[in-house]
Amino acid sequence: MKVAFFSSKSYDRQSFEAANADYHHDLTFFDAQLNSNTAALAAGFPAVCKFVNDIADAATLEILASNGTRLLALRSAGFDQVDLKRAAELGIKVVRVPAYSPYSVAELAVGLVLMLNRKLYRAYNRVRDDNFSLEGLLGFDLNGRTVGVVGTGKIGMIFAQIMQGFGCSLLGYDAYPNSQFEAIPNARYVSLPELLASSDIISLHCPLMSETHYLINPNTIEQMKPGVMVINTSRGGLIDTAAAIEGIKSGKIGHLGIDVYEEEEALFFQDLSNTIIQDDTFQLLQSFPNVVITAHQGFFTQEALCSIATTTLTNITDFEQGQPLKNEVVYQPSPSTKALV
Ligand code: NAD
Repeated sequence: MKVAFFSSKSYDRQSFEAANADYHHDLTFFDAQLNSNTAALAAGFPAVCKFVNDIADAATLEILASNGTRLLALRSAGFDQVDLKRAAELGIKVVRVPAYSPYSVAELAVGLVLMLNRKLYRAYNRVRDDNFSLEGLLGFDLNGRTVGVVGTGKIGMIFAQIMQGFGCSLLGYDAYPNSQFEAIPNARYVSLPELLASSDIISLHCPLMSETHYLINPNTIEQMKPGVMVINTSRGGLIDTAAAIEGIKSGKIGHLGIDVYEEEEALFFQDLSNTIIQDDTFQLLQSFPNVVITAHQGFFTQEALCSIATTTLTNITDFEQGQPLKNEVVYQPSPSTKALV
């Protein structure tokens, strides 16, 4: 099947070309981000493959459909950039990679915790500068701390298990609790207000949907412990960045670690080191000494890339052969699946 890849990088080409030896699809890689200005590149491609910051809003989907695209294959788990309702109306099937090494994202979240609680990012730079002072590097033990996990699905569960290994107590909040979470020693479900009020570290692992948009906002920040650490490896839109900045300035948020940012489309996955960044909010966030930002690299491990390529190509083959689409994202007009575009 002819497949047009958008936002493709060298590592996409490598992982997909290697995996495609077993699938024999006809892959074309475009550097361009998918949006209504670039969708015409996919003319004549029945399948389009998009990544997290490619935009599949109504206008883009209409162009794809009019040019013959019938399958939108997401090489990601999250589908918040897809107008599922419009896709369904246009007869475009949407498939995704629901799970690909959830360890990759969970372990990065733990990495952000360790960076922040021991100020490793500052220590690394100091020693390289022959500054061996410990002033300002005082950390805290994770052992005995309370960790709040918002969203206890595949990634949240692994994050919780790792943090339990550090000797932390776990509080979970999930719209759809699962019994496995409470099987972890020292883990129990609580209401969101209790999680906010009792956690030393809060890590977000729920999807971005209308009801989770700005889950972290002035009201929820107000409910948190002073000096709380907030970690977000899920989607940028879960945090109202302006509110987080106010929380950092007031001292309410003591540490912020993010792998995702609500306006990341204009920044992430590209080298802007010779560019004047126009996003003042991002620049302000970067300037704080207690904030660590990574550029959406949670998924970026060898195991995850291999799994993403294999599952995506299987999804495409299933569609081509008229097989059931086990990884289809079906539009359901209920609040829990209402996608944000
Ligand atoms: P998952 O579907 O296994 O788990 C999500 C959990 O969130 C589920 O348990 C679900 O019940 C829960 N949830 C749904 N609505 C909720 C709500 N309103 N409040 C609280 N919890 C709610 O998904 P996953 O594989 O664990 O991935 C989680 C998220 O991680 C994805 O949605 C995606 O946005 C993000 N992600 C980020 C990266 C990265 O590179 N940083 C990579 C993959 C996934």
